[in-house]
Amino acid sequence: MGDKIESKKLADKAGVSTVPGFLGVIKDVAHAKKISGEIGYPVMLKASAGGGGKGMRIARNESEVQEGFERSQSEAKSSFGDDRMFIEKYIEQPRHIEIQVIADRHGNTLYLNERECSIQRRHQKVIEEAPSPFLDEKTRKAMGEQAVALAKAVNYVSAGTVEFIVDTKRNFYFLEMNTRLQVEHPVTELITGLDLVELMIRVACNEKLPLKQSDVKIDGWAIESRVYAEDPYRNFLPSTGRLTRYIAPQETANVRVDTGVYEGGEIGVFYDPMIAKLCSYGKDRKEATAHMRAALDAYYIRGVSHNIPFLASVLGKKKFESGDLSTNFIAEEYPQGFSDKDLPADDPTKLLAVAAVVHNTFARRAANVSGQMAGRARKLPTEWVVAVKDAEGNYSETPVKIESEVEGGTVLVNGREVDVTTGWRPGQPLFTAVVDGRAVTVQVDRKGIGYRLFHAGSQLDLLVYTRREAELARLMPNKPPPDLSKYLLSPMPGLLVSLAVKEGQEVKAGEALAIVEAMKMENVLKAERDATVKKIHQKAGDSLAVDQMILEFG
Ligand code: ADP
Repeated sequence: MGDKIESKKLADKAGVSTVPGFLGVIKDVAHAKKISGEIGYPVMLKASAGGGGKGMRIARNESEVQEGFERSQSEAKSSFGDDRMFIEKYIEQPRHIEIQVIADRHGNTLYLNERECSIQRRHQKVIEEAPSPFLDEKTRKAMGEQAVALAKAVNYVSAGTVEFIVDTKRNFYFLEMNTRLQVEHPVTELITGLDLVELMIRVACNEKLPLKQSDVKIDGWAIESRVYAEDPYRNFLPSTGRLTRYIAPQETANVRVDTGVYEGGEIGVFYDPMIAKLCSYGKDRKEATAHMRAALDAYYIRGVSHNIPFLASVLGKKKFESGDLSTNFIAEEYPQGFSDKDLPADDPTKLLAVAAVVHNTFARRAANVSGQMAGRARKLPTEWVVAVKDAEGNYSETPVKIESEVEGGTVLVNGREVDVTTGWRPGQPLFTAVVDGRAVTVQVDRKGIGYRLFHAGSQLDLLVYTRREAELARLMPNKPPPDLSKYLLSPMPGLLVSLAVKEGQEVKAGEALAIVEAMKMENVLKAERDATVKKIHQKAGDSLAVDQMILEFG
């Protein structure tokens, strides 16, 4: 079943509905074009040995087959040592819904409900949940029974997953069977109360499954977020480096963290960049989502880029909230890629109040320990100005006034009263508080004389001034950022596989310039605008650091 072509043939034989396509190995580009034409565009080019979304590409016309086929094939060869490819129809607006099965050696095969894994990027799952907000009882049963029929047809024993894609009319088609425990299995465990690993071990020991199909229930809702070392602001390019600080959220009945990393550990280039699987559980989808959002706020990772802001953004989208998912969710919700603008609009007043309390606490400590004011009780100002930096580097100022400072305090932000209750002390990276009656967690980093706050995925750079300081700060010159558009910089650490251009060559916007490989993925770097290549600084085979200059435009 590990082979996509063979398993599709078997599924077909077992009466499982499969994606229309060509059930055989595609020989070359010409063959791929012929078959694609017969199936009808769009089509999906797939590596038979593929996994994790690798070696797979959509082609909407012949020239995309031309471009995609060989690249997928070479990716398949380098990742799986097997370059056999096949082609099937691309199902539009599909949802990815999979059935967990478990089978013993005594003829018992059960389905343990479904997981929906439609939130994907580059065909790789990012957020999964169980149950699916889309399935009705009838479809669940039909999919479950087909999954069991397939497992039985191949005499499958142990835990496995039968993956389907489901179209907007709830037609479902077999994709592949994963003959192993999957990354997203915790969401099934959370809603069924079963320990899949325990069941696998029991089955492997020849025991009978201790339950029947009618014992399998759905209790509550579970969500899993895959926390990756990658840069969501740079098209999710993998990130590497040392985890200089790492604090995972507290595990509770509503939060589970599966991970193997630790503070001081290194995220290297040789493996998949997953840091952890963060799962939440609630009595319904809304509650599970709320727990997930709180857990993301409390997940403190420094030293490598990570996708927590992106995960927070996805959970805040209206379409996610309403369960209106498809595998195009990310492409459709983030047409320009992910940016700060996609972050859920949180009440900024509350964050400004938090900034005021943070700064007041620091200032008070400084006044107490420095001894500079010995003999004279230093009086701290109660009125401050919070200057928040925007994307263009300009500051917007808001006056704040500390009205009381008992365990946090009451802060007037632009005249509006905000009540902050906290036991936070300087040096603690997580500012946990009750702000106007609601529990919030804000991550606090000191940046020079300012602060960087993180909350609900968004990041706020700010300074807290006295009124006099604010007046003087306005007189300081603003340093414009350097112009980097003249250079092609490596967006990630990796290997320069090849250069597609020569010195002196003119290139058009969108033209390929170089291929950089990292974490087993080939990334084509393209020209952002028309330009002439002036000088090339690297050669194929060179190792690149992030932001290392590859070439210069004239
Ligand atoms: P992998 O083994 O790499 O995970 P799958 O065959 O499970 O590959 O496919 C991964 C994802 O790619 C699916 O969840 C789905 O989003 C998408 N996909 C695969 N085949 C098709 C298809 N024929 N039409 C539309 N989407 C597809």
